[in-house]
This record gives sequence, C-alpha cells and structure tokens, in this order.
Amino acid sequence: MRYVEEYRGAEEAHRFVQALHARVTRPWTLMEICGGQTHAIVRFGIDQLLPPGLTLLHGPGCPVCVTSVETLDKALAIASRPGVVFCSFGDMLRVPGSERDLLSVKAAGADVRIVYSPMDALALAERLPGREVVFFAVGFETTAPASAMAVHEARRRGLRNFSLLAAHVLVPPAMEAILADRNRRVDGFLAAGHVCTIMGMEAYGPLARAYRVPIVVTGFEPLDLLQGIHMCVAQLEDGRAAVENQYARAVRPPGNAPAQAMLQAVFEVVHRTWRGIGPIPSSGLGLRAAYADWDAERKFGVSAVGGREDAECRSGSVLRGLLKPPECPAFGTRCTPETPLGATMVSSEGACAAYYRYRRFTGP
Ligand code: SF4
Repeated sequence: MRYVEEYRGAEEAHRFVQALHARVTRPWTLMEICGGQTHAIVRFGIDQLLPPGLTLLHGPGCPVCVTSVETLDKALAIASRPGVVFCSFGDMLRVPGSERDLLSVKAAGADVRIVYSPMDALALAERLPGREVVFFAVGFETTAPASAMAVHEARRRGLRNFSLLAAHVLVPPAMEAILADRNRRVDGFLAAGHVCTIMGMEAYGPLARAYRVPIVVTGFEPLDLLQGIHMCVAQLEDGRAAVENQYARAVRPPGNAPAQAMLQAVFEVVHRTWRGIGPIPSSGLGLRAAYADWDAERKFGVSAVGGREDAECRSGSVLRGLLKPPECPAFGTRCTPETPLGATMVSSEGACAAYYRYRRFTGP
C-alpha cells in the first residue's frame, strides 16, 4: 500500500533502533502528544525496542478523552430536548458523563446520530427545517477548521436551526501545563504532526526555549515515530532544545493559512477544562460573538450544567504521563472497553484502550 508500507519497513526500523542504542548515554523520558501516536507505539511495540532508560509517556492528545464531564453533561442535556437532532462523532457516544452517556440517551428515545463531518450535520439541518440540529464539536486544531466552516456556512445560508456545542481544545497550552507541573517527568516531546499541518510550528518555539525541551513534530507510522524519537534523543544528548520537523512530508512551518483564517474568523481562544486534568487557561476555542446565534450552549441555556468524574478513574494521571494504564487498579477488571469507567478506555485513541487492545495479555 503506497504511503503506508514505506513507513513500516523492518530493516529501516532496525537501523533506527540500533542508532538509538548507540546514541543513548543516560535515562530520558519523552512524551508523544497524540493518541494516534500512542496507538501506533503500543500496537507496533516501539516502546519495547528502545534502549533501557529511554521511556515513552503518553500525552493528552485524544480529544474524546479530554472532553470534560461537564461538557458531556451539557451534550446529554441538549440531546434529551424534544425536537433536537444531536450529531456526534461515533467515539463520543460511549464516553461516560456524570451519570449517563449519549448511547443511553439515544436508547431512551433521543435522536442522536453519528456523523463523519460537521458538514453532514449542516446538510441534515437543511433537510430538516423543523428540527434543531446540533453538532458536538470536539477535537484539536486538526478538526476545528471543519467545525468553523460548518458554522460559517450556516450563517451564510441563513440556517438558524443549526448550532455547535463547541468543545475544541488547543495543544500548546496543554503542553505548557505538563511542563509547568512540579511533578513533571518529561524531557522532550513528540508533537502531533496533524495538528502542525494546520497550525504550523511557530507556537512551539517559545515552549522549547522557556522550558529547555526539544520538540520534534512527528508523524504516525512506525518509522516516523522511531525517527522522531531519534531526533529528540539526539538533541537531548547534545544539550539542545529546538523545534524540529520529522513530518516534513505533511507539515510546513507556517501551517495551512486558509484553515487558520477560518478558525480566526469563527472562533476565539477561551479557557477550557480538560477531563482528568482540570482548567487550562486559553486552551479552547469558543464561538465569537458574531456567531452567538449558532452557539448551542447559548441557544439551549445549558451553560450552568455541572459535571462529576468517576472517583475510581485515574485517567487524569494517565493523560499527564504520571501513570501507565496497567498501573490503574481498575484496568482490565472493573474497567474495560465494554464497561469503561473513563474516556481513555472508550476512545479509539485512548491510552487505556490501546493497552487493553494490544497488551492486556502480555503486560506493559
Ligand atoms: S483503566 Fe479505566 S479507570 Fe483506569 S485510568 Fe483508564 S479509563 Fe480510568
């Protein structure tokens, strides 16, 4: 298969592994940001090929996992309203809110539908003028431009029965929160390649300089990850802390200017609470005042809904790289993909789901 197989070659992988064993002289801890990278690392056993002392931690880069319980509860309240068609990506349906999830609300009679794009929800609003169609907009900078485009189009077409429950989050503020944590264990980052495809690399320079950490923008295939790890380790061993681009086949340093312009036009930066982590200043995207009529929170008056985490779930520690999923006492027993206690066990990008799928019989 073109564009995949060439990034999975065993010989090249072996060469990177040998180079890493030759380069590492002391323990280092790296964090990959994106849940897609976490799944590739666990699936292909990349962490098990590394030299002793070179540790990978899994970061908060799964948007389903970090969407707060409070936001989930707002989604559940809106989805339960008569006349509402609530549209969401499939991963969100089984994520537990305080007491229920979207699937159970759907089973109780609510009109909850899985869509593959916000534009699908917009098309639904056009077809069903007598209904209120709401799109649950979760995701990082990668998916936010499509949400922005849907709202922009709704306003242009005069579709007032469409609205957005905006829950988008931003990666650099989360990286800063991890770096500023006094329990920080991270020496270097593998930044998420797809986020940088949109936003470019500019935001990472100040972080690398302020916290003296190398940041390597990295792709998602095994050879991408091994090369990204090697670039990060080389910087650490040389005493450098720069932003480098492993994923040059997709990422240009300035990013995607039209997508950034669309984000800028529709969204403004807001404070956001991350599930398991807590509030992170300036870490989310909310609709600008000019788009207030398409803001589902405003339209349905749900902004005061509260949220409660499951007391047993340790996903906050997992998302900050302080705990590996198998170290959670509930992993694989009380918490499985069929009976998830936390979002990191539900999402296809969640770290707990990755370990359950690929490591539950073999251990970490
Ligand atoms: S294994 Fe389950 S309970 Fe434990 S941290 Fe992961 S999602 Fe939460």
